[in-house]
Amino acid sequence: MFKVFSCLVNEHDYGMVAVAALVCLCASLTAFRLYSRMNGARGLARAAWLLFTALVAGSGVWATHFLGMLAYDPGVKTGFTPTGTIMSLMVAVLFMAAGFFAAAANRERDIANQLAGGLLIGLGVGAMHYTGMSSFVTQGVIVWEAATIGASVMLGVAGASAALLLAGDSRGMLRQALGGVTLTLSVCALHFTGMGAITMVPDATIVVPDQLFSGGLMTLAVTSITGLIVLAGLGAVFIESQTTQSALERIRTLANAAYEGIVVVQQGTIKDANAAFCEMAGASLETLVGKPLMDGMLTFDDSRGVHTDGADRREGRMQPIDGGRSIPVEIFARLMDDGLRAETRGLTVLAIRDLRERRSAEEKIRYLAEHDGLTGLPNRNALQARLAATLDRVDASGERLSLVCIDLDNFKEANDLHGHLAGDAVLVETARRLQESVTSPSFAARLGGDEFVIVYVADQDHDQATAAAELAGRLLETLREGVQYEGQELAMAASLGVSLFPDDGRTGEALLANADMALYRAKESGRGAYRFFKREMDESIRERRNLARELRQAIIDEDLVVHYQPQARACDGEICGFEALVRWKHTTRGMIPPIDFIPLAEETGLIVPLGEWVLRKACAEAAQWTKPLSIAVNLSPLQLNQPNLPALVHSILIESGLSPARLELEVTESALFKDYQRALDNLRRLKALGVRIAMDDFGTGFSSLSTLQSFPFDKIKVDKSFVENIHRDARATVIVKAVLGLGRSLDIPVVAEGVETDEQLQFLRGEDCAEVQGYAIGRPAPADTLSAWTHGDAVGFIVTDPAVVIAKLVEAKAPRRRKKAA
Ligand code: C2E
Ligand code: CA
Ligand code: CA
Repeated sequence: MFKVFSCLVNEHDYGMVAVAALVCLCASLTAFRLYSRMNGARGLARAAWLLFTALVAGSGVWATHFLGMLAYDPGVKTGFTPTGTIMSLMVAVLFMAAGFFAAAANRERDIANQLAGGLLIGLGVGAMHYTGMSSFVTQGVIVWEAATIGASVMLGVAGASAALLLAGDSRGMLRQALGGVTLTLSVCALHFTGMGAITMVPDATIVVPDQLFSGGLMTLAVTSITGLIVLAGLGAVFIESQTTQSALERIRTLANAAYEGIVVVQQGTIKDANAAFCEMAGASLETLVGKPLMDGMLTFDDSRGVHTDGADRREGRMQPIDGGRSIPVEIFARLMDDGLRAETRGLTVLAIRDLRERRSAEEKIRYLAEHDGLTGLPNRNALQARLAATLDRVDASGERLSLVCIDLDNFKEANDLHGHLAGDAVLVETARRLQESVTSPSFAARLGGDEFVIVYVADQDHDQATAAAELAGRLLETLREGVQYEGQELAMAASLGVSLFPDDGRTGEALLANADMALYRAKESGRGAYRFFKREMDESIRERRNLARELRQAIIDEDLVVHYQPQARACDGEICGFEALVRWKHTTRGMIPPIDFIPLAEETGLIVPLGEWVLRKACAEAAQWTKPLSIAVNLSPLQLNQPNLPALVHSILIESGLSPARLELEVTESALFKDYQRALDNLRRLKALGVRIAMDDFGTGFSSLSTLQSFPFDKIKVDKSFVENIHRDARATVIVKAVLGLGRSLDIPVVAEGVETDEQLQFLRGEDCAEVQGYAIGRPAPADTLSAWTHGDAVGFIVTDPAVVIAKLVEAKAPRRRKKAA
């Protein structure tokens, strides 16, 4: 040891020693940097990196040796033989290649590999050193000391092994630097120990040939070769790191732009994450790295653990570490480890999607789907589901259940009279009162319109019917109280129908249908009351249902007929047109009047195809008439609200060839109120076609004047209920007069319906009524019985019943030209 030390202290040029150490350090650091790249690469690239590593490390060590030798000044002339010098460089590079290759040969990177690599590198440095020494020629005899030689090689082996173990396969600079420094130290240790192993005995007889490499030349050659190689290595590392750096940057930018949280996990701990994940986790990347992911931060809804095929979609929750509310998430996991590259070893990438927005949207949709927008009560769908669930429970527990159907009396009228907003206020208030009347598990729901339902789970101690009757009584009372709206009190009242479980039905559907039936009865019996369902009610309803089915078939089979009732000018009694009135030719029941099936058709929607059929039939028939008489057709409220009505009328006019001016459509006031804007819109379009519009049943609706002003009607038809009372009820007379006055002031002709007597006719004529219609003029009749009026010369009343023969005023006007068309 002392020998080594004294050798270093006494026989070396310190400056040169420092240069040698520096060169060695540079080369070692670069070599480990290159070595780390080699670890990440495969195939040709891996071989290239290995070659680079070996070249840099080998030449570096070799340069260190020779610079060390140049620093060595034994006090006599020295030189180097070229062969030995070059041989030693090759030896160094070869051993380095073998050593680094061995160290990285096994992907699992066990210690044995590192040690094998260290052994090869240590031996390589030793071999290089002693090969190099063999090229050393000096004026003296070198005496070798075997033990120190052994020690020097062992130092080299140990140092190289330590360097490899320290550097590992890390991409981190620190560990690479540790490896580099350790290798430098081991090389220096080997070199100077090796130098300590020689003793120079000067011998002037030995001639140092002049053609040997001299000190100065060697210094220049060694430093420039090494420098170039190290620079080339560094350049390669730089270029590679530049490209991978920008690729990594790109990936990070992409990952951060992703809406999903992306987190890279190795053995359960977080290695990397994107911005979205950090936000979800409520912490910065720095805090997150190294933290366990599955230890409370991320939990799966099920307990299958992480599956890493990307197709595995899982749901779970993210618990932000800043203590925020846990977030519902969707998780996709994929193992990144392809078994080939070291830097992906054991890595799993998890994409985590924040489901909060989706969940809240889902909730909103579900809420909207289950609740009535206006009152917030469960809607029909929700009622069905909740009722079914409640029934199941009640059935099992032996509790009792009753179902109350509630329908507001005169709601429609209030709505029409005070407007939709007032109607809405009434509904909201009704909902509130109903909700207040029951406690969970009983509940209220809105079926639509002014129909509500209460599912009432009665106390077991009470008799069910009594409890339900009590509730119904309470409901009637609370719903009788007026509703305040914009300073006025809106009158309220309701009718109720009650059905009991299980007596009146075991399913929600049956209970609802039966309660509805009872409600229908309550309405019939004068409203403002409740009725319990009774078996007999079932019968009449079933009959209605049958009738609806038959009507549907009748429309298809064309079992309907249209009768025509004449309309005459009041002044001279001349027939100016006909109103089309439908009848149902039932196979077993005979002719059914419209009053018995039009409301049913309206309720079931069958009125739409029915009305279309009547319209088509009436137009086709009227188009055949030789006289251009007008034809009036009734439009039901539902029809008037069909968006395609104008188009339909248009196409029927075209296909029948009827002039639009001959067609008159009769609408009632109530038809307008269903959807005011749409109805008005349709009326305007119809009018634009050239069709006339009559206001039917005038006087039975509401706010009559404003309706008349809202649209330029071509005709007003005074309802027959007033006409028939002209001479019986002073009020009726006043109303008829008022309507006639109204028509005059608005310049709209008025038609009186239901004129049955001569008296009525005279009165109307005296009041300047424009037209009359009724049994006194003619009953509705099939078209073929009317040909004298539609095709022939007849112009006067069509009354055929001798009992009601009245003065045929206009017959005097005839005869005109006979039989123009036979
Ligand atoms: P409406 O439009 O007011 O038709 C007049 C109704 O009064 C007809 O009854 C007619 O037969 C009856 N009538 C006519 N003159 C007299 C009379 O002097 N005294 C009495 N007491 N009644 C008379 P109908 O044919 O039974 O029709 C009843 C209602 O059915 C019609 O009332 C109309 O609202 C509806 N309706 C009839 N046909 C159709 C149709 O094709 N479509 C639609 N939507 N409704 C129709
Ligand atoms: Ca009518
Ligand atoms: Ca009418």
